[in-house]
Amino acid sequence: MNSNITPQVLVDFYSKLSQLSLPEESIIFAPPGPQMISYGQENKIPLLNICSPQVDTNFFFILLEKVGEIIITHYPYLEKECRQIFSALPTDISDRELFVANVFKPGVNLLTLLKNDVSPEAFGFLMTHAVKPLMRQLGKIAAPAYDLEEWMKGSCPVCGGRPSLSLLEKEVGKRYLYCGLCEVKWRFQRLGCPYCANPESQFFRVEGEEKYRIYYCENCSGYIKTIDERKMEGTADLFWEDINTVHLDILALREGYINIQPELPLSALKQNGTD
Ligand SMILES: [Zn+2]
Ligand SMILES: [Zn+2]
Repeated sequence: MNSNITPQVLVDFYSKLSQLSLPEESIIFAPPGPQMISYGQENKIPLLNICSPQVDTNFFFILLEKVGEIIITHYPYLEKECRQIFSALPTDISDRELFVANVFKPGVNLLTLLKNDVSPEAFGFLMTHAVKPLMRQLGKIAAPAYDLEEWMKGSCPVCGGRPSLSLLEKEVGKRYLYCGLCEVKWRFQRLGCPYCANPESQFFRVEGEEKYRIYYCENCSGYIKTIDERKMEGTADLFWEDINTVHLDILALREGYINIQPELPLSALKQNGTD
């Protein structure tokens, strides 16, 4: 593995986060009826846009605090900002319910639901990592509603986010894209850029690392890290592959390609103050 290249603090941070346990019912997703599903599938509408999941309010605030403590342990310079966020969180039960109900709704600025002003960057960081395990769970329970072999789109069928990795599958090298947020994997065309309509893309390899390729697009300058499962034993753990390949991101950025950040649907990640 390349964990020797990946900063240890990053590996430790994600190890701790991935150990957070989620009760079975912490996120509930009731898929809409078959008509709505086939409409959504045909028109390539992410599931999150046609149906909101439900998250238990108390559970969410406990999770938020646990994630905050993990952040403070690994990134002590964020302690002050995290504590400010903790004391700005709503306390009344109805305000808390409103807050949680809005976490998965596009277009709501959660900063406006806090009691005080806080650092929007630190708040975005905390929310992203608190929402992450719920999104992973959502990915598991919601994704089967769609036929992922038929999705063939450059964005995630569950959350609409952009892929952080692609995968050339073991058997015959079929290509899949992977969402780093909800950890869903869906089929995509073998060639072509997931970010723009360019049907062509090139790739380069890194010496000594046969299983990785970096595909890049001359049209939009986007890149995507790719794992060639045919060049490895067993199957890839994409969550860890994503983290263990930060050196490939650095390489691609140095070559002048852009790391197109996922367009997260989460209102929490809006960092432009109030609107
Ligand atoms: Zn997703
Ligand atoms: Zn492109």
